[in-house]
Amino acid sequence: MAELFYDDDADLSIIQGRKVAVLGYGSQGHAHALSLRDSGVDVRVGLPEGSKSRAKAEEQGLRVVTPAEAAAEADVIMVLVPDPIQAKVYEESIAPNLKDGDALFFGHGFNIRFDFIKPPAGVDVCMVAPKGPGHLVRRQFEEGRGVPCIAAVEQDATGGAFQLALSYAKGIGGTRAGVIKTTFTEETETDLFGEQAVLCGGASALVKAGFETLVEAGYQPEIAYFECLHELKLIVDLMYEGGLEKMRWSVSETAEWGDYVTGPRIINENTKAEMKKVLAEIQDGTFARNWMAEYNAGLPKYNEYKKADGDHLLETTGRELRKLMSWVDDEN
Ligand code: NAD
Ligand code: MG
Ligand code: MG
Ligand code: MG
Ligand code: MG
Repeated sequence: MAELFYDDDADLSIIQGRKVAVLGYGSQGHAHALSLRDSGVDVRVGLPEGSKSRAKAEEQGLRVVTPAEAAAEADVIMVLVPDPIQAKVYEESIAPNLKDGDALFFGHGFNIRFDFIKPPAGVDVCMVAPKGPGHLVRRQFEEGRGVPCIAAVEQDATGGAFQLALSYAKGIGGTRAGVIKTTFTEETETDLFGEQAVLCGGASALVKAGFETLVEAGYQPEIAYFECLHELKLIVDLMYEGGLEKMRWSVSETAEWGDYVTGPRIINENTKAEMKKVLAEIQDGTFARNWMAEYNAGLPKYNEYKKADGDHLLETTGRELRKLMSWVDDEN
């Protein structure tokens, strides 16, 4: 069973006694910086001179300096810039400013797990990753609650790295909900597998294949869109609230019967064999190497895939249909 830690297991004074740099002010960065500040922690935000996030962080009462200045001032450096650029930010701004006894923190283990960042031996290397988007992390904190976090230590140079990570998690409200101990390896590999096989890749491919099957059989795209994409939210909301059993309790007996007999025909032994290959390519670093090569080449295939799917009938149909749904709020 997983090891869980709560408020009483964490000592907030540890992080209150340190100087924290939060690099990046996006989804996670803003939530960490503001909540740590509200927990009485000495925080500065590190952002490049031209960054659009600067004005926002300053408006919210935070002191903003460059990433290098932040790393130099601080003895706990939380890296919350996009994963593919973390190695560059590390080389340019963090490494020259790291001292023995400092702690390097991450919200995801990608760059440590796959050795794109190799911190020196005298530095603690920790992870505190909320299991939710940054805006929920911040809102829960303000309401006196918290989002569960996972915490890990890759390198314990000082002997106090895990207590420091728990203290940090307490500063953003994580121990109010519960913190689960993990490792950089487990977090990174399961995160990549989950998003590829199930959450993003698996779900998108399932929706597209179902939609195409109906349209190719002569059904109207609008009807196929409702059946294969729109209604998925209702099903996922039920699973989120109460697992598969609540979803099955809520749908009709006919739908539940179809779930049992047809589901395993769609996601079958072949699918699972392919999932195992996907996991092996994550574990042996093939995925990470290929993705960084694609990123550093300027994202040629990524942009091709994005364009092709953007023009897909599923998406063009959806854009029109969502105009009929006053309650669907497409902010972006
Ligand atoms: P984001 O894209 O929302 O924000 C990135 C921020 O970095 C922006 O403020 C951007 O201005 C800033 N930035 C870009 N280049 C920079 C540079 N050179 N120096 C300093 N700042 C720079 O990113 P995010 O989604 O908050 O992800 C940050 C980390 O948190 C990642 O490791 C990610 O895997 C992890 N994470 C994210 C979530 C989530 O819900 N989004 C959840 C768990 C973990
Ligand atoms: Mg994840
Ligand atoms: Mg991920
Ligand atoms: Mg239906
Ligand atoms: Mg139905």
